[in-house]
Amino acid sequence: MTAEIICVGTELLLGNTLNTNAQYLAQQLASLGIPHYFQTVVGDNLQRIHQVIDIALKRAEILIFTGGLGPTPDDLTTEAVASFFQIPLEEKREIIEEIAGKFAARGQIMPENNRKQALIPAGARVIPNPTGTAPGFILQPYKDIVNHPQQKLTIVTLPGVPSEMKRMWEETVIAFLESQGWGKEKIYSEMMRFRGIGESALATKVNHLFSLTNPTVAPYASPGEVKLRVSAKATSVEEARKIMNPIVEEIKAIAGEDYVGSDDDTLERVVGKLLQQRGETVSVAESCTGGGIGHMITSVPGSSAYFCGGIIAYSNEVKIRQLGVEVTAIEKFGAVSETVAKQMAWGVKERLGTSWGIGVTGIAGPGGGSENKPVGLVYVGIAQPDGDVVAYEFRFGENRSRDVIRQLTCGEALDKLRRHLLKG
Ligand code: AMP
Ligand code: MG
Repeated sequence: MTAEIICVGTELLLGNTLNTNAQYLAQQLASLGIPHYFQTVVGDNLQRIHQVIDIALKRAEILIFTGGLGPTPDDLTTEAVASFFQIPLEEKREIIEEIAGKFAARGQIMPENNRKQALIPAGARVIPNPTGTAPGFILQPYKDIVNHPQQKLTIVTLPGVPSEMKRMWEETVIAFLESQGWGKEKIYSEMMRFRGIGESALATKVNHLFSLTNPTVAPYASPGEVKLRVSAKATSVEEARKIMNPIVEEIKAIAGEDYVGSDDDTLERVVGKLLQQRGETVSVAESCTGGGIGHMITSVPGSSAYFCGGIIAYSNEVKIRQLGVEVTAIEKFGAVSETVAKQMAWGVKERLGTSWGIGVTGIAGPGGGSENKPVGLVYVGIAQPDGDVVAYEFRFGENRSRDVIRQLTCGEALDKLRRHLLKG
């Protein structure tokens, strides 16, 4: 059984409304394990809606419409579906009463226009709309024709208003699809995160897993982070875990320390957990990231258990006065240097009295780079509980934007701390 999502509305074609309904329905279909290969957007035009139905039913068995169920003459979905399949529309008294009741509850009289929303193709099942006026319907136009090649063809119509559409989908459509035996096997996924390894390097290591069919393994990349999505088709979470676990474990073994965590275990959460397990604390001294590392750490609820604070040491003055960076170090090596990053890390650890200190200094650009010290050059210092201080150099590249360089710096600094914490 494959589905096609059909969004009706000229406002979508004009770009006035972002098609969030398609995204929602696509995610829903994916999690229900119902494949869908096409999405269509069509304007409020009868002939063109007919054209879309004509094409869609040749390549899908479940056509899911959103939009075009309103009371105004430009809302044509119901009429288009009924006329395409030559099914008469019936006025449902109970729907009129319900809509009139909703108006009455607001002290209003139902406009004559809204009667249109009570027209439902004969034989269709109504999808109640608890919050709005337009109900949807489920129609199987060839259901009663034995041996019809499209006997299972199913049309689902939902309103365009996203909140109404979602509620109707959740309360009625999912159960209907499941009652037909579709979507019983759901797709469960684990999103595994990695750092310190590029997408293609990781892909090469796990290449043999990409051809699996259940579970499937698919890569995703964003600046500084690579993800592998392991998905299984199964009838329960337990069954899915059984299918996924061996592969997840194999990937963890292959990736070693480059594996950060899965799903909600973001880098900042993992760092927080490790610090808590060890009963340790951290503070940050940030130059080019301007507080970004502190922001990441404190985005995790409960981070006060291990994060004490930080110093945004943007100027040399603050690096010297507040962190105890040596004037001679800045003169000799420059503010963006290994030595200064180390002294910043040490300074903040000492002054804030934490187990760990992180210091970062770098050139985020777009200006300020030189041949020796190009834009994207960053040093991360880590001061350790035993008093050792180490520094790492990164060259993120001159072509990256300031935002990306800052984001990469925050991520790499926390990742270096994570790797130290893993060492025990
Ligand atoms: P309709 O059911 O066509 O009267 O749509 C009602 C409202 O829902 C429109 O005015 C849009 O603001 C919104 N809408 C319609 N289709 C979509 C869609 N595909 N994604 C997000 N919003 C939509
Ligand atoms: Mg519309």
